[in-house]
Amino acid sequence: MEVAVVGAGVNGLATARALVRRGVGVTIYEQFELDNRRGSSHGASRIFRLSYPEVEWVRLAQEALPLWRELEAESGEQLLQLNGIIEFVRREGEGSQSALEASGAAVEVLDPDEVARRFPMVAAPHDAKAVFQADAGIVLAAKARHAFLAGARAGGARLREDRRVDRLDDLDEDVVVVTAGAWAKPLLAAEGIELDVVATSETVCFFRLESDRPTPSLVDFKPGGLGHGTYALADPDYGLKLGIHMSGRQLDPDAPVGPDPELVEQMRGTAARYFPSAEPEPVRVDTCLYTTTEDESFVLERHGRIVVGSACSGHGFKFAPVVGERLADLATAG
Ligand SMILES: Cc1cc2nc3c(=O)[nH]c(=O)nc-3n(C[C@H](O)[C@H](O)[C@H](O)COP(=O)(O)OP(=O)(O)OC[C@H]3O[C@@H](n4cnc5c(N)ncnc54)[C@H](O)[C@@H]3O)c2cc1C
Repeated sequence: MEVAVVGAGVNGLATARALVRRGVGVTIYEQFELDNRRGSSHGASRIFRLSYPEVEWVRLAQEALPLWRELEAESGEQLLQLNGIIEFVRREGEGSQSALEASGAAVEVLDPDEVARRFPMVAAPHDAKAVFQADAGIVLAAKARHAFLAGARAGGARLREDRRVDRLDDLDEDVVVVTAGAWAKPLLAAEGIELDVVATSETVCFFRLESDRPTPSLVDFKPGGLGHGTYALADPDYGLKLGIHMSGRQLDPDAPVGPDPELVEQMRGTAARYFPSAEPEPVRVDTCLYTTTEDESFVLERHGRIVVGSACSGHGFKFAPVVGERLADLATAG
């Protein structure tokens, strides 16, 4: 059996590795170079967390964690740095505490003094409860993508870079897995498959932050029960990465727009509030694409010889090893 994987972001690479481990021949087609910065998977770090307000997402993250450990053992690379995550919760029922407890994960509520003692670089606001979960932090994203690729290549997978697939019919393989990120919607529409997603360009800022203590990941929530607001995480190059979930504008992925200056300004203020020892000016500003379903779930499904893998909604990286397994099952089991 031969399978084509369209798109060499984290999900395509994880799927290719899972497929070769099932004894399948795999060719990965990527329209740009492997480490391109045009999609959703570039950069050095992403948040890994079990902390989700819904039990099913907690359980999926619990399923992903040992699979990351397995990839670390296979590659000989450290891929997770688990310094914990703090959720700043301002409303009753907000955050992940009850879903974590229901899933058997350890949770602690820290007062601001305890936050300062454990994480001297974080200034906890006095109007919020700090819910801490230890099995969280970052996944080293670039290293993780390369580890998936190395595993796929070790099993015989081929990577074709600078090879844009315009029509899935052009591919001769028995099954085609589409992990094309923000480009998947038009590619699938040409095959009569509707993918109900919206692509947005999200701005992120990097700040220099020096500390001899490990930096935790951090999230707060938008007012009115609208989910995550600010998120922040350790960045291996500069110290701190910070963004505002779902704040970007819709875009055509072939016509990228640059960072949004208003959001950069907002992020400067937020960084100064939560991380007062960080340098006030961002050292780098970047963009990254979200491909989002209305309820932030993922689309993993099969239509004839086509398998759809759209797992982003701004939170898919941590789940890549599980998503790879699910897509490989769909591709091989029908
Ligand atoms: C700002 C930002 C912050 C995020 N933070 C987190 C986080 O903290 N934690 C977390 O878990 N997740 C996070 N995510 C989400 C996570 O990064 C994504 O879920 C994940 O990277 C999606 O990967 P993908 O492989 O599906 O898509 P992509 O990485 O976009 O890969 C798709 C690839 O397909 C290629 N392609 C497209 N069309 C074609 C074609 N026709 N022919 C050939 N190749 C094609 C593209 O060039 C691209 O390389 C974040 C995302 C962003 C943007």
